[in-house]
Amino acid sequence: MRVSADNSKCVVSCMCVYRAPELFDQDETDGRVALLAVAVPPDADAVALRAVQACPSGAIALVAMDGPTT
Ligand code: SF4
Repeated sequence: MRVSADNSKCVVSCMCVYRAPELFDQDETDGRVALLAVAVPPDADAVALRAVQACPSGAIALVAMDGPTT
């Protein structure tokens, strides 16, 4: 699995950073989501999913490695 982010949808709630700090951070200029990693380590699938589910704006997603880029 990998994560994708659409910064235009990010409302800077920071839930992803709290839930999966190894995958998500905040951009220094506007606070919006910044990806620290694209590929999700196999043992981090559950953490990544919880972060995606916690996002209030649908700005981040989990997709298959060969899935579409968003
Ligand atoms: S949880 Fe969603 S809205 Fe909040 S910072 Fe992360 S991507 Fe942005």
